[in-house]
Amino acid sequence: MKRKIDWNNEFKMQINNQGFKQFSNHFRRKKKGNCMFKNCNKKAINSHGISEEASLKLIADEDGHLISLKSQRSGMDWKMEFIPVSTGDASTFTGFCHEHDQFFNRLDSGKFETYFDVINQCFRSMSHTLYNYEYYFKVYKQERDNLDDFINLQSDIYKSLGLTREEFKNRFIEENDKLWNKRFEDYERINEFKCELNDLLEMSEEIKHLELFNGKIIEYNWINSHITYRRIPIKIPVALINHLSAGLNGKVSDLQFTIVPDKESTHFIQFNYRNSRYFTNDFLDKTKNSISALNYIEQIMMLNEKNWFIDPKVVDKFSNEKKLMIEQDMYFMHERSLNDKYDISIFDSIRIDLITELKGEEKEKELKKINELPYRKSFQTRKHSNDKILEGIWLRQ
Ligand SMILES: [Zn+2]
Repeated sequence: MKRKIDWNNEFKMQINNQGFKQFSNHFRRKKKGNCMFKNCNKKAINSHGISEEASLKLIADEDGHLISLKSQRSGMDWKMEFIPVSTGDASTFTGFCHEHDQFFNRLDSGKFETYFDVINQCFRSMSHTLYNYEYYFKVYKQERDNLDDFINLQSDIYKSLGLTREEFKNRFIEENDKLWNKRFEDYERINEFKCELNDLLEMSEEIKHLELFNGKIIEYNWINSHITYRRIPIKIPVALINHLSAGLNGKVSDLQFTIVPDKESTHFIQFNYRNSRYFTNDFLDKTKNSISALNYIEQIMMLNEKNWFIDPKVVDKFSNEKKLMIEQDMYFMHERSLNDKYDISIFDSIRIDLITELKGEEKEKELKKINELPYRKSFQTRKHSNDKILEGIWLRQ
């Protein structure tokens, strides 16, 4: 029987924060990589996951800023905070060479009219997601290359845990490898679909002429996936690229969500790999009208803080209590799942416009989300439950 190890919270927090710091440093440096287009090895330039001209600038303030919710870590401290991001930085990655960046010209001129445009945006979003994964891998490699140095730095911790250096090192490698193997598998799966989308975009002339309409399922059996498209007839001021894994009957499905606002509407796309009709129907149901689509957008935003950007005016109107509650809810994002509606209104003014048509209980429910803050347990109680879940992952006997 393995000895029970007390991976105390301080230790976990230190490791998490060190990893996060390396990850952020990599991003800040924005090292140049190669173009992510199939069979192209040219140097990549800075590209946007979501068009700066046709979308991000339309929801930014006069200074060209958007608001993002980001993890802020230092030493033992970790919190979520709303912070400004310029449109030049929002959703950028060194993804494509100059020539292939032109492949998104239609999206950059605000054209969202054909199958090609939607598939093109999916391809752009997936490249953005893969780029994030690649940076995680670089951090992982660096960690493994410098593992002995890292372990030496932790001598106080393993001594206080009553472990030898070797015991600590082996346990650390075992836990990390499990995590990274899963990430490698995810990466390879996403990359496979990205390559197939690349082929489809280059080979099929037909999709350039197929006109798009709201609620359209674009189904390609050879890719074995569904792309589902909704056009919401109002501008919801959020740009988002979010990749989630969702379980159904013991199988994992990958879902890629992209939200692209334009002058007077919002393009909402779900790319559902592995052709799981459940998630396609679920998306169509959850976005069947503008208010349910708004609810679903808020729900998705609150499942992952990475890579969404909103109009600063939205946050300016929050009370301090509301702002703090949303920041803390993001800290505890694991409390919610893809099926849990978020119980605080983020887009108040859009919601007020949309609910004029509603009546009775449904209207009351939406108004309550604007006018009242829900009950939450204390931060410490929530943190304690969260730590118990983490401990379940870390502590195996
Ligand atoms: Zn290229």
